[in-house]
Amino acid sequence: MNEAFVQLRCPACEKDWEAAPTDLPATDAAFSCPDCGDQRRTAEFMRTERDLEILEQFETA
Ligand SMILES: [Zn+2]
Repeated sequence: MNEAFVQLRCPACEKDWEAAPTDLPATDAAFSCPDCGDQRRTAEFMRTERDLEILEQFETA
């Protein structure tokens, strides 16, 4: 799997965007919404379970 993108959604302001997993921190690391600055675990920004799985695969790779 290369050039995969994950879909993100901010739970606070509901901004939708996508990013390359390699540009995101680990699922348990702190991540800030680029729009509203709300800080949560990266996992909480994943829009679906599948997006979370993709990000986890990149962590263990
Ligand atoms: Zn936000």
